[in-house]
Amino acid sequence: MADETQIEEMLEYIWMLEEDHGKALRSFMDDKFGNDVAKYYLSIMVGKKLINLNDSKIVLTEAGRNRAELIIRRHRIAERLLNDVLEIGGDEFEASACQFEHFINEEIVASICTLLGHPVVCPHGKKIPPGDCCISAKRNLEPVINPLSEIKSGERVKVVYITTRSHASLDRLSAIGIIPGLELTVHQKYPSIVIQYGETQLALDKDIATNVYVRVIQS
Ligand SMILES: [Zn+2]
Ligand SMILES: [Zn+2]
Ligand SMILES: [Zn+2]
Repeated sequence: MADETQIEEMLEYIWMLEEDHGKALRSFMDDKFGNDVAKYYLSIMVGKKLINLNDSKIVLTEAGRNRAELIIRRHRIAERLLNDVLEIGGDEFEASACQFEHFINEEIVASICTLLGHPVVCPHGKKIPPGDCCISAKRNLEPVINPLSEIKSGERVKVVYITTRSHASLDRLSAIGIIPGLELTVHQKYPSIVIQYGETQLALDKDIATNVYVRVIQS
């Protein structure tokens, strides 16, 4: 593996350790990459001022954090693309997302992000760091993935992901069968949104419909 690619993989992993454990311990890097590789590259990364080593802990410098954030963003945008649009799953999915992040440039990431409607979480529910495109949200391209609340009546859609942070509404949605993969038709928009799937017709609160992201499969 080329040095830069290896360094990016390690930055990505440090970011994820901080996200999951609040800190990145060297022992986790040893487990993941092997002692020799971890030791060798961590010292290169110190030399490049991407990290500082603090006893057993690895601390990202500002430059290291910025670089890691870009890699995480590319990886998770790639996951959304593979999962939502190309419907690639399984082992291929992780490996492809990890290859993608090293070769794609920011402009292409911004185009894909816009096309997907500036997603805020990856398919695993992890936060996607926003890019400039998300902040200015210039919608030059019609997004492929939209909130259910923006779908016209009569359109048939497939649920791609749900972004609500409330566990209560997530539980309620899954209890009534609204989960990623469900295909449904928007039956009525006013006075409330009514959806239909199978024999079921159901009225949805507007704020719930805003959190259910779908892809139109037939208009
Ligand atoms: Zn990756
Ligand atoms: Zn993910
Ligand atoms: Zn964006």
